[in-house]
Amino acid sequence: MTTRVCVLGYPVGHSLSPAMHNAAFAELGLNWAYDAIEVAPADFDTLLRELPDRGYVGANVTVPHKLAALAAADSVTDTARAVGAANTLSFTDGRIAADNTDVDGFLRALRGQVPGAPAGMRALVLGAGGAGRAVIYGLLREGAATVEVWNRNPERATGLVEEFQGLGKGVPLVAVTEPRLDGVDLLVNATSVGMALGRRNDAHSDDFKLLRISADTLGEVQVVADLVYRDGGTALLREASARDLIRVDGVDILVHQGAASFELWTGLEAPLEVMRDGARKRQNAGDP
Ligand code: NAP
Repeated sequence: MTTRVCVLGYPVGHSLSPAMHNAAFAELGLNWAYDAIEVAPADFDTLLRELPDRGYVGANVTVPHKLAALAAADSVTDTARAVGAANTLSFTDGRIAADNTDVDGFLRALRGQVPGAPAGMRALVLGAGGAGRAVIYGLLREGAATVEVWNRNPERATGLVEEFQGLGKGVPLVAVTEPRLDGVDLLVNATSVGMALGRRNDAHSDDFKLLRISADTLGEVQVVADLVYRDGGTALLREASARDLIRVDGVDILVHQGAASFELWTGLEAPLEVMRDGARKRQNAGDP
């Protein structure tokens, strides 16, 4: 019988995860399948309880269900609890275990470009939503030198800073009302800015205005990471590329996040390159 896993979202048709995971299952000769299941928030809990009887051993969870997934779980890792959201569920013996692999996804992708990062780095994170929370938790846990947080809605940044104080074993964590790039080693875009148009070569020069930074000052930074994945790269990553900065792109973060989930479910090492190819091919194929 085929062992099943899935991604639960609303909507979910755009997800690259089925292509990425199914490519990995095929590569390793596993009789596993990964489906995309669209489920409205009102039906989420009921569906979750039905999945094990339908042959599912796990699920990824995406917008808008990450909080509901955490609440529904019988056990939760320290990481998922600290971030306040779950993106990976495992179903064993009638129990639901919740984890958050967005944290490791970001850290593994970052370390793929900069071994040892983010230890000792001065980081500026744009965004204090779900992705921002995962990134900031990872930076604090792994010993960044300082972490600054900017968010369009400033109260969300100050709220996060208050909540996360103490998680970083002395790492200074502050909210800023205007992001400044001087003195920053690592810039992370964890907002959704840069994803709106979704196609290569679209003009999206407004991105920098929305993020309140200037492309001219980007040269101050060593490493630029963008969680947004977009065919052809985001405006931010293209500007980083033009300045020969080290880049960490959203597809790579997604692939590492998926690899961490894959390893939790299967206990096997994930075939990263195959997963990356699967995601890229699906991305190039565009929306269904
Ligand atoms: P979210 O919880 O809805 O948060 C959205 C964030 O974007 C908030 O900080 C929001 O600021 C900000 N934002 C939205 N529109 C903006 C604008 N016009 N100008 C400035 N800021 C704006 O979403 P999320 O889950 O954090 O996801 C954020 C992005 O990360 C999405 O593009 C998502 O696809 C991506 N992501 C990628 C990965 C990966 O593996 N690569 C993993 C997770 C997420 P306000 O608080 O002011 O609204």
